[in-house]
Formats: sequence, structure tokens, C-alpha cells
Amino acid sequence: MQARILCADIGGSFIDFAVLDHRNALANRRKEPTPTRDFNAFLNCLHSMAAPYPGVPLHIAMAGTQEPKTGALTTANIPCMDGTSFASLLNSHLKRTVRVANDADCFVMGEAHFGVARGHDNVFGIILGTGVGGGMIWKGQLILGGGGVSGEWGHAPIIPHLPDLPNATPCFPCGCGQKGCLDTFGSARGLERLHLWNGFAPCDSHSIVAAWEAGENDATKTIDVYLNYTSAALALVINTTGATIIPVGGGLSNAHKLVSALDHAVRKRILHQQDAPLVVPGTLGPDAALLGASALT
Ligand SMILES: [Zn+2]
Repeated sequence: MQARILCADIGGSFIDFAVLDHRNALANRRKEPTPTRDFNAFLNCLHSMAAPYPGVPLHIAMAGTQEPKTGALTTANIPCMDGTSFASLLNSHLKRTVRVANDADCFVMGEAHFGVARGHDNVFGIILGTGVGGGMIWKGQLILGGGGVSGEWGHAPIIPHLPDLPNATPCFPCGCGQKGCLDTFGSARGLERLHLWNGFAPCDSHSIVAAWEAGENDATKTIDVYLNYTSAALALVINTTGATIIPVGGGLSNAHKLVSALDHAVRKRILHQQDAPLVVPGTLGPDAALLGASALT
């Protein structure tokens, strides 16, 4: 097996590592706990993974944002690397080319190059997972915004805060410091929050989706609210970007009927009507970010 690119998907819990061969297949997978608070342990961990492949470039999908001009990394999940010039630090420590991008961006890169969005020039991919994320691809290249931020359709106060009617809208405080972001209710945890807001008993997201599929009233009310707000935000994104496919990753992407319902709701609300599905589950599963990282340039 000839190693073409080394790929790592670095999250707050684990580092997934694999070698991409010349047939674009992932091999020699390894998984190690992420040393989140120990700078040297973090570098040594990556060094031990990369050392058997001298000189082979390392491409990394990372929970964080890299400032394009300075290379400074912002990462809440891996404090020992927060604020470092991450790629150049690894470049000199590991003695090889190192490329880094946000993990949601890498998911979209993976689906655009190797998965369900292959053949599309204009791709907006979304994550409905722990939070709501996204990434934009044009002709196979990531579009990076100011400060490295782009595709973050999960943040901005889209749900109005009504001081005189505080429970009239699902306006929840968000981790970004604002209120009413899609991130607060668009994920699996968010769905559970919406269910409570509707006045129903606590219920996990799998049970809510299953009850909705079975036609139960309470779950249907919650999913209706979910689809109404999420499809409105996504329709705005599609009308703005002109994306021709929206691959979906993250935990809720496994709920295929929910993704299909979101697709139908979105297609009713966009300006350019099309018959083919637009919002579709990604097809690469846990390999998407690793494969997407391999395609970074
Ligand atoms: Zn937010």
C-alpha cells in the first residue's frame, strides 16, 4: 500500500487517523483519545501516528476555525491548541506539509468529492449533529470567509425574542452569545428542547422522530415546528448561494424520513423549483471528514 495522504479527524474526544492510498481508499485506521489539555502529549500523539510515513502530507479535519491570514486556530474543544499557529506548528514538528480545515467543512468536501454531491459545482453541506454547522464548496474548493468563518447558517437570531410574550416563540440562548439561533433547536438536543417548549414530557430525539413517523400528535407538533423554522432558514441559504445539492451529516442525518420531510419543506419555499431531491443524507458516514480532508489544497 502506497500512502498518498495521511488524514486525521480531530475532535474533542478522539483523533481518527487513516492513510489514503492511490486508489483513494482509507487504510491503516487508528483511533486515539485526544490529549485536549497537554500540548506535548498532543504533538507526540500525532507524531506517533505520522512517523511510519516520512514526508507524506498530513491533512486534518479539526473541531475549530483557522484564521486564513494568520493561521491562528480557535478551538474550544482542544484548549492546548487554542490560539496556536496550528498548521505551521505541526509542519515543523512533523516535518511534512500539513493542511487544516474545520471538520464541518471537511464533511462537505468529502461529500462533494467522493459522496452524494459528486458532480455538483455549487454545494452547501449541513451538519445536524451536536450543533448546526455547514460548509460551502464551489468547484471542489472550500469557500472561506473572514476569520475562517463561512457556512455557519446555525448562528444569527432568526427566532424573534418577544419580551411581552416570552413563551410565544422557541427563542433559546445560544452558546455564541445570541438568542434565537437555529443552533439551539436544529440539532438532536435541540429537537428535545423544542418538545419541552411545546409543553410535552421530556423525550429523547430518537423517540420523538419514531413517534412522529408513527403519526403521534405530540411528536408531530414538535416536528412541524422544527421543519417550519429549519426549512425557512435553509430556503434562504439556497436562494442566496444557489447550491444545487445539500448533503446532510451529523446524528439527525440518520433519520432519513426527517431529512426527506425537510427536503420537501425546503423545495416548497425556494425560488428555483426542481423535482429532484435537494436536501439529502450524506453517503460517506464517518469517513466523510477524513476523505474531505484528503481533498484540501
Ligand atoms: Zn448562535
